[in-house]
Amino acid sequence: MKIKSFHGGVHPFEGKEFTEKKKIEILPLPGTVSIPLAQHIGAPTNPIVEKGQEVKAGEKLAEANGYISVPVHASISGKVKGIEDIDHPVAGRGKAVTIVAGESEEWIDTIREDKNYFDLSVDEMRNRIREAGLAGMGGATFPTHVKLSPPPDKKIDTAILNGVECEPYLTADHRLMLEYPEDILNGFRLIMKILGVQRGIIGIENNKRDAVEVMRQYINNSNNIKIAVFPVKYPQGAEKQLIKATLNREVPSGGLPMDIGVVVQNVGTAKAVYDAVAHRRPLTHRVLTVTGSGIREPKNVLAPIGTPFQDIVDFCGGLTEKASKIIMGGPMMGISQPHLKVPVVKGTSGILILEEKESHLRPEEPCINCGRCVLVCPSHLLPTTLQMLVYNERIEEAEDLHIMDCIECGSCSYICPANRYLVQTIRHGKRQVIQARKKAS
Ligand code: SF4
Ligand code: SF4
Repeated sequence: MKIKSFHGGVHPFEGKEFTEKKKIEILPLPGTVSIPLAQHIGAPTNPIVEKGQEVKAGEKLAEANGYISVPVHASISGKVKGIEDIDHPVAGRGKAVTIVAGESEEWIDTIREDKNYFDLSVDEMRNRIREAGLAGMGGATFPTHVKLSPPPDKKIDTAILNGVECEPYLTADHRLMLEYPEDILNGFRLIMKILGVQRGIIGIENNKRDAVEVMRQYINNSNNIKIAVFPVKYPQGAEKQLIKATLNREVPSGGLPMDIGVVVQNVGTAKAVYDAVAHRRPLTHRVLTVTGSGIREPKNVLAPIGTPFQDIVDFCGGLTEKASKIIMGGPMMGISQPHLKVPVVKGTSGILILEEKESHLRPEEPCINCGRCVLVCPSHLLPTTLQMLVYNERIEEAEDLHIMDCIECGSCSYICPANRYLVQTIRHGKRQVIQARKKAS
């Protein structure tokens, strides 16, 4: 395929060598998990279990609350200790169902292979995806059944499978492609069938040549699925940038990929789609990368959702003496964490531990008007102007300058020689715009 590129972008330290050759290891069963009721974009779930109740792994703990919502399930079997407020890795605080593990692991008995899964109706496929609690596993956590239900007036012609994993340090998607290529491709074929598209494109960066080769073998000369290999540039894996580089189409300001006939799904989500439709397997576990100079034995780990970060870090040999900063995700788009008691959620792509010298947030200095932030912004924004408008509470003007098109990639902050807190301020400004819109409606 002829590959184009996208505007802007940066080349941060990749850091993938810590874990890219490490096979996915299964975490030993944790003693306790705390499974948050809100793990997706949309309405939080309603719990349907009580304190003291025995639950099996895979059992539904909470029902979806509306269309843009998905249920959550037990990731281990045991007794419900309570439904209480905990520190949440994305929301700060939130309610979670805490389960103390029983003596033996017991699973629900409805997980079984359905050999004719590809012949199911599209509605039944979507229903299984929703019932399994799927939300985008690349980190966006948008309910998958909603993304696979575009309105009739949005004609989708292309599905893109996102195996780019451009975020530095993270290798979970890379390992998934090497170790589960068949499941991922089966999931992608289901996604294409649900959307009714004839064209599927798998996007992978060329720092994962082994994954390209494996996926190519499994595609096996399929006419309607092709692989697009991209040069390494951050944020190549962001939806809009991936679409631009693959199809040379631009998502309009304020619009969605479906507005230009495209749906993008992450490789981890595709595997979960296959598990949900072909096996009725709920989303109870995920693969994450545990890495950084602050971790003694960096690994890729399959862990139950709800596992405290501490258990996973212990499984990876613990922290080094110089470990300082905890991030959920990668260094560019990850979220800082106050401690290791927070649980793994559906969107946890990694746990990154950095040393003090790598993580020190330096004080802001005056902008020197070098223009670098403008040059690298993949969304064609003026980061320095937006920051000034947010600082001065001129939110309407920031909205006029398309602040909501910021994808929070952090490229502007990364490149800024004056350490301006650009992405942080713009993120704050976006929240203010959302609040103002809510008030006005
Ligand atoms: S303004 Fe937003 S989209 Fe542009 S570089 Fe900064 S974080 Fe990325
Ligand atoms: S990169 Fe930093 S110093 Fe340069 S124009 Fe942008 S905000 Fe100012």
